[in-house]
Amino acid sequence: MKTLGYACTSAHAPLAPFSFERRAPRANDIVMEILYCGVCHSDLHWARNDWGWTVFPAIPGHEIVGRVIEIGPDVAKYKIGDYVAVGCMVDSCQHCDQCRKDEEQLCREGNTGTYGGFDRFTKEHTLGGYSKHLVVREEFVLRMPDGLDLAKAAPLLCAGITTYSPLKTWKAGPGSRVGVIGLGGLGHMAVKLAAGMGAHVTVLSRSPDKAEDARALGAAALLVSTDDDAMAKAANGFDLIIDTVPVKHDLNPYMPLLDVDGTLVIVGQIGPVAELSTVPLILGRRRIAGSPIGGIRETQEMLDFCAEKNILPDCEMIRMDEINEAFERMEKSDVRYRFVIDMASLQVG
Ligand SMILES: [Zn+2]
Ligand SMILES: [Zn+2]
Repeated sequence: MKTLGYACTSAHAPLAPFSFERRAPRANDIVMEILYCGVCHSDLHWARNDWGWTVFPAIPGHEIVGRVIEIGPDVAKYKIGDYVAVGCMVDSCQHCDQCRKDEEQLCREGNTGTYGGFDRFTKEHTLGGYSKHLVVREEFVLRMPDGLDLAKAAPLLCAGITTYSPLKTWKAGPGSRVGVIGLGGLGHMAVKLAAGMGAHVTVLSRSPDKAEDARALGAAALLVSTDDDAMAKAANGFDLIIDTVPVKHDLNPYMPLLDVDGTLVIVGQIGPVAELSTVPLILGRRRIAGSPIGGIRETQEMLDFCAEKNILPDCEMIRMDEINEAFERMEKSDVRYRFVIDMASLQVG
């Protein structure tokens, strides 16, 4: 089917209108009209080829909310008119041990990215949600629960599940002490979700001027990481720290904050961190871990949890043609806390 998106044709080109074809739906596919798409930091890295493997023309976008407009004959879970969502992956092998455990994000054959992946049948390169339509197999479609604001929910599909999954894996809940480093798209969701789970949440920030924001999001406290006295007093005070910082940074100051068997989970930065001393790791039996998004079952659980607790990202709605400006603002951390594209602003002409 013919559709329209916003693509970049090289790492230096701005995103611009781009007509293209979505594949014909297969028997287990749904076709969705995209209503909203969140703007993730990965979109920016992908468009600029920061990881070195972007295939151009590239259409970013993996926080996708829309409506089913067509279904293949074998589709059982969805019908035309349903409000649905798609996150960071659109396929996986479906038979390895990880897929059978509902951990498709860890598929042994690699999951198929919503953009930057390759269709398992046609081998064509996948194009993301900065577009009017998407064709996806039903196993990778999420149901939007009643009561969740469609216009604000899109960032849950990446920022939400990326922080929800480690909070669940490391059992955040009443009585647990959770720290969140970085207060951007991921960090602000980590605070809201951990607080929603009943944990005692502290935002770790380099400056004290985030205190009001942290409390507004549901944190009980702000710990200023440049305040040596405060950091020393907070030693052994955390069971879990979610590190959402998206650039190379120093983990050493944070390690003494973890209690015995405490874990710092990196979800923001993909790449090297600064040189790290193993002393606090060994002496305190502390851990550093990483975590990528979450499986489809867990993503649905997260959406249902957010609907039940009325947890939504703080969004700034933009038109599709404002995306290049939005990218520039994201590079300066000038967004609270996530841009969402209103896809009605992209007209098929
Ligand atoms: Zn993302
Ligand atoms: Zn698999």
